[in-house]
Amino acid sequence: MTRARPPVVVVGGGVAGLTTALALAPTPVRLLCRAHDGSGTASALAQGGIAAALDPSDSPAMHALDTLTAGAHHNNAAMVQWLCSQAPAAIGWLQAQGVAFDRNADGHLHLGREGGHLAARIVHAGGDASGVALVQALRQRAQQSSHIQWRGDMDVDGLLLRGDAVCGVCTHDTRGHRHEMEAAAVVLATGGIGALYARTSNPPGADGSGLALGMSAGARTRDLEFVQFHPTALNVAGVHCLPLITEALRGAGARLYGATGQLLMADQHPLGDLAPRDVVARRVWQACRDDGSAWLDAREVDGEWERRFPTVLAACLAEGIDPRLQPIPVTPVAHFHMGGIAADADGRTGVPGLYAVGEVACSGVHGANRLASNSLLEGVLCGQRLGLMLATMDLRAASSGPYRWVGRAASLPQSRLEALRMLLWQTAGPEREATGLQNALKACLAWADEGWQARLAQRVLEAALSRTHSLGAHYRTDAVMPA
Ligand SMILES: Cc1cc2nc3c(=O)[nH]c(=O)nc-3n(C[C@H](O)[C@H](O)[C@H](O)COP(=O)(O)OP(=O)(O)OC[C@H]3O[C@@H](n4cnc5c(N)ncnc54)[C@H](O)[C@@H]3O)c2cc1C
Repeated sequence: MTRARPPVVVVGGGVAGLTTALALAPTPVRLLCRAHDGSGTASALAQGGIAAALDPSDSPAMHALDTLTAGAHHNNAAMVQWLCSQAPAAIGWLQAQGVAFDRNADGHLHLGREGGHLAARIVHAGGDASGVALVQALRQRAQQSSHIQWRGDMDVDGLLLRGDAVCGVCTHDTRGHRHEMEAAAVVLATGGIGALYARTSNPPGADGSGLALGMSAGARTRDLEFVQFHPTALNVAGVHCLPLITEALRGAGARLYGATGQLLMADQHPLGDLAPRDVVARRVWQACRDDGSAWLDAREVDGEWERRFPTVLAACLAEGIDPRLQPIPVTPVAHFHMGGIAADADGRTGVPGLYAVGEVACSGVHGANRLASNSLLEGVLCGQRLGLMLATMDLRAASSGPYRWVGRAASLPQSRLEALRMLLWQTAGPEREATGLQNALKACLAWADEGWQARLAQRVLEAALSRTHSLGAHYRTDAVMPA
C-alpha cells in the first residue's frame, strides 16, 4: 500500500518562511514557528524597506554593483545579478499580496536612500514600518491558503533522519508537549544569530537555533565570521534587544556626532554618514568606547515624523527622548548574519531533505557585508524560488523504516548565556583581534557541554580566527595583509 505523502515542513514565520510556504501551493505545507502573530521575527522589525531599481535613472546593474561593493566582492556574483534583476518583480508580487507601499504625491512609489546605495531605491511601507506591513500581508495570505497548516506555538528542537536524509522534525509546543512530525522535506527559515550578542537589534528568538539544528544534521556552514553590525540602535543601558534607529534617517539628513559635538563621519569616507554600515558601525563603536557616547542628531529632518518615522519616534518617546527636539543616544548592535548554512541558489544544503532560506542560509548573495534592504528581498525571492522548486519536485512518499533524531540538546543556563553574549560582543563585535578571539574560544570550549549556544559561538569564533585579514564586516585590528 502506498503511504500518504507527508507535508513539507517549513520552520519559520518570517518573510522567508511565509513566502516559501505560499510558493509551495498546492503542495501541503506545515508551517511551524514560535508565535502566530509574527512577533519574534526580524522580518516584522524591518524599518527601511526593500531595495529595487525602479527609478528610470537606476538599473539592476547599478543595484548589483552597490551590492558587490558593500559585500567586498566576496559575494556570489551570479546570485547578486539574479537578485537585483528580479527585485522589481518582487515588489510587484508583494503589491499583489496586498502590501501597500508608500507613494509620492504624484502616485509613484516613494524611493528612499540608504547607506551604500548610490541611488534612491528603497521601497517602504507605513514610513519606517515596512516589516510589519510585509509580514501582515503575507501572514494574511498564508492564513487564507488551504494548502498551509500553521502552528504558531512550536519550538523545533530536533530533526528526524532516515539514514543521512532529513525526514521530519521534533518540536515542543508551548505546553511542553513533544511532537514528532514526518516531512517530505524540511525548510529551515529560522532567521539569524543576533540574539547571541549582548547588544542586538534582533528579537530574542534570533538565537541561531535553526543554524544549530542544521549543523546537528551534518549541514555545512559558510562565512560564519561575517556578522553585520548596525551603527544606530537606541542606546538604552542594560537592554539586550534594542530598538533600531533606521538608516533612512541619515538618508533624510540626520548626522552622527561624538560626545564633544564633533561630526563622527567627517573625513572617514566619501559617503560620509551614508558610508557602508561596517564603516559607520566601527566609528560609532570607537566613539562609544573612547568617549562614552555617540549621538544621532535628526532635528533637521523634515517634519511629518508620525508618517515617515513612526517606529523610531515611538521607541524614542518611550525612553523619554523626543528626537524632534534632542539628539538620540546611539550604539552599534549585532544586526544581520551574512554567514549561515551553506545553501545553493535553490536552498539545497547538501543534506538530502533539508533546505535553508532567508537569513539562516548563506547563498553568498550578501558577501562579506549585506547592502541595506537586500535581505527582505532575499527572503522573498529565494523563498519563491525554493517553494516553486519543491512544488514541482517529485517528493516521493518517505520510505518507511526506523528513523533517529538529532537535536540542539540543552540550552545554556541563563547566567552563562548572558556571559557568552557579552564575550561575543566584546571579542567578535565590530572590531576583532586574535587574543580576544582565542580567549573567548577557550571559554566556549569549556562551556560546550553545558549548552548548544556555546558550540555555535565556538564555530563563529573559529571562523573569525581563521580569517586573519579584514574583509567587509569582519574587521581585524591585528590584520595581516592577504598574500
Ligand atoms: C530591527 C531590524 C530592522 C531591519 N530592517 C531591514 C530592512 O529595512 N530591510 C531589509 O531588507 N532587512 C532588514 N532587516 C533584516 C531582515 O529583517 C531579516 O534579515 C529578515 O527579515 C530575515 O527573515 P527570515 O524570514 O529569514 O527570518 P525572521 O524574520 O527572523 O523569522 C524567523 C522565524 O523563525 C522562527 N524560529 C526561529 N527558530 C525557531 C525554532 N527553533 N523553532 C520554531 N521556529 C523558529 C521564528 O519564530 C520566526 O518566525 C532588519 C532586521 C532587524 C532586526
